[in-house]
Amino acid sequence: MALAVFFCEFAYYVLKVGLCNWAALPAGSGGGAPSPLRLLLVSDVHVLGARRRLWVERAWVDWQLRKSFALLSWLTRPHAVLVLGDMLDEGGGFTGDALWHAYRERYGAVAGSGAVAGSGARGAGAPPHLHVVGNHDTGWAGRLSPWLIQRFERSFGAANAAFAMRADGTIAAAAEFELAQRASPAQRQALEGVFAAAATDGFVLVRTNSMALDGGAPAAVRQQTMRFLRAVGEARGGAQQHRPAGGQPPLVLLTHMPLFRSDDRDCGAARAAEVGHVTYTAPGEPLGEDVVTKADTQWLLRTLRPSLVLSGHTHTACFYVHESEAAPASAPVQELWRRRWRDSGEWAGGGAGADVPEDVPELTASTLSWGMRPDPAFAVLSMARGTAARGPTSVAARICSLPDERVIFGVYALVAASVVAGALARCFRSRRADPPAGAKQH
Ligand SMILES: [Zn+2]
Repeated sequence: MALAVFFCEFAYYVLKVGLCNWAALPAGSGGGAPSPLRLLLVSDVHVLGARRRLWVERAWVDWQLRKSFALLSWLTRPHAVLVLGDMLDEGGGFTGDALWHAYRERYGAVAGSGAVAGSGARGAGAPPHLHVVGNHDTGWAGRLSPWLIQRFERSFGAANAAFAMRADGTIAAAAEFELAQRASPAQRQALEGVFAAAATDGFVLVRTNSMALDGGAPAAVRQQTMRFLRAVGEARGGAQQHRPAGGQPPLVLLTHMPLFRSDDRDCGAARAAEVGHVTYTAPGEPLGEDVVTKADTQWLLRTLRPSLVLSGHTHTACFYVHESEAAPASAPVQELWRRRWRDSGEWAGGGAGADVPEDVPELTASTLSWGMRPDPAFAVLSMARGTAARGPTSVAARICSLPDERVIFGVYALVAASVVAGALARCFRSRRADPPAGAKQH
């Protein structure tokens, strides 16, 4: 029994997480950089709520999440943790403020991110956690009201924000566009400061409220997000004018809703092997409203020109490539990288200030929670800055699985069955050894 508990509650986790090594960067690219940025990607934590789940489910899933976060930090040692939305399960308008804050505190406890600071600043030595807003944290389309976003932003920081991150994960500068703030020159200056701080050896991480892009979202919310994204695009263009010789930092877009793809048939071999589940679709099913529209996706890619997109929401992992609108100059090379990204999560491309928009790789992270699927996962991603000397920016990612809940149940069921069988056998043996009381009297 003790052995089963040790295996299920500790050894199985250590084995799963410990076997997940950081993927090696592709050779002959920015992989020659001295130390790549190591990002741990988790998504759809969905700390369960009282309206839809029993207390026993909430306690069981909290326990799994708490252990997963602790072991992920301990064993993978990331420079930064990116949480790609839906930290809460019942964080929408149906949940009152007091209960919402109780859920947020529970999230902070399981994620080990304490008070969940907005810009990701935490205790000395601990990696920053950057949180992306998800539809379960606020609402979606017509249910996405300004007060729900402001409630989120008071705890997790601005839904629309840009950060300059160095290769060791430190945040050198931040520009946060909170909904409650009015547009101001100071916001634009802060954005320019982000690009300047990342110019020589950093990365620009842009997180956005992708639910606000939906046509059904309140106009003020959508406009504020579009204004932020336009300002990022302009700051990026301005930075390129000042540093035309390849000094443009790679831009990583963080969004809860994936950018447009019609379905998941082009997401790589691992995804293609999946079938549908209660919280995710089969690869061939249309994604419909679960992705940003095609028009908004094209606008986003043109405006921001990201080197990489990281997303969540669909509860299943996907390596996808948004192909360049322009005719690719070196089609065979691009095709090779597309295939590598889909099959093994390796990418070398994007990079310093290309005039022609290139292919943009996207990684959609799976859910981290047993509350959403029995076989959750996380991803580790290494990224090395491209320079004129080292070639393009390179990225290598790996999807790693967490313990399978069905295995844990199976082991405990086996132990319980053997304990019951042992007790019955003992009982049967003792009855056979003792003759019936009546027999003694005669
Ligand atoms: Zn979602």
